[in-house]
Amino acid sequence: MKYMLIVGDGMADERIEALGRKTPLECVNGQHMARVAGGELGRVRTCPTGMPPGSDVAFLSLLGHNPKACYRGRSPLEAAGEEVSLAEDEVSFRMNLATISGSYEGGVMASYNGDGIDGEDARAIASDLVKAPEFAGLMDKAKMRITVTPTFRHIAVVKADDEPFELTPPHDIAGRVIDAYQPKGQKAALLRALQETAHRVLENHPVNLRRKEEGRMPANAVWFWGAGRATVLQSFEEQFGKKGTAVSAVPLVRGIAWLSGLRAPRVPGATGALDTNYAGKVEAALKALLDEGDDFALLHLEAPDDLSHLGDTAGKVESIRRLDERMVKPVLAALEASGEDFRILLMPDHYTLLSTQTHDGRPVPYALYDSRCPGMPRPFCEAACADRPVLESGVDLLKKLFEL
Ligand SMILES: [Zn+2]
Repeated sequence: MKYMLIVGDGMADERIEALGRKTPLECVNGQHMARVAGGELGRVRTCPTGMPPGSDVAFLSLLGHNPKACYRGRSPLEAAGEEVSLAEDEVSFRMNLATISGSYEGGVMASYNGDGIDGEDARAIASDLVKAPEFAGLMDKAKMRITVTPTFRHIAVVKADDEPFELTPPHDIAGRVIDAYQPKGQKAALLRALQETAHRVLENHPVNLRRKEEGRMPANAVWFWGAGRATVLQSFEEQFGKKGTAVSAVPLVRGIAWLSGLRAPRVPGATGALDTNYAGKVEAALKALLDEGDDFALLHLEAPDDLSHLGDTAGKVESIRRLDERMVKPVLAALEASGEDFRILLMPDHYTLLSTQTHDGRPVPYALYDSRCPGMPRPFCEAACADRPVLESGVDLLKKLFEL
């Protein structure tokens, strides 16, 4: 038996006027998702009550952990996704490339991700920053190391004592004056000095001068947030007796998988955006299952969540359409052609509402298809699952998937 978990990040939503009072899932009405929904429908609570809903909490749950017991912040999970390990006396942070307009004092958080900076531009800015003498000197003082990636997301690690860090996620202060949200708690003065220095050093970086000419905002700032200590997770194989692989563009998901003992390969061209390498991701997941002896594969699509945060209704619908056409369809076809029995679990990790552009922690719908008893196709959507019982955790759902 082969097991595939397909997750459309944040794809569940409410009915909205602009889609003729349909949800994005209802609007797409994907025919391949409908085949999966011919199996069992249900709901599951991926974000325990009282915890902030998000992919960090939801994927801990979906890979068999109790977020209430093991969650120590988002950053150490992301750090694991970049293969950065932490010592006992270390704390990791996210360091975003961002845009702060105006001077640093009294400046405004104009973009939490440096106006979408990515690829070699992002790598060049962050690498030059950590080499700039003024910034590097402060890093030394803070006992900080930084791992640079070709995205707006970089990882900072510091030696730290038990005093808390109080840091604000930059996407929570979009358009606001930053002064009230400066780092507080441990190493606050140093973190603030690092952010202030970065703003001075980066304003006239060649990449930023070019971006300004192109009419884009400069990635002229860094912002630290999401502090956390090393996270130790139970092995997926020990818990469920299955070997597996996770295919995702997102370091957070790869990190949770890697800490759970799953393989988490990087797929070239997997971007986390609408233009991601669908075929490459599907191929990597199928190869793990059919050629490399894995029992379980996770296939994750980030785009529906990102587009929800941007309030892009048409984009969210298109991302779900591509999930149906470019992921669910080829996965069904290849597993059928393989001659193996298989089960497919299809779901979002959490709701992301276009109306609020943020996550929502209510239980999510799922469909569980079994090739031995396929059932009649029917729509996969929120309403179709609304009267189904709620499983209380990802562990319960995995036990159902694996028939344990
Ligand atoms: Zn999200």
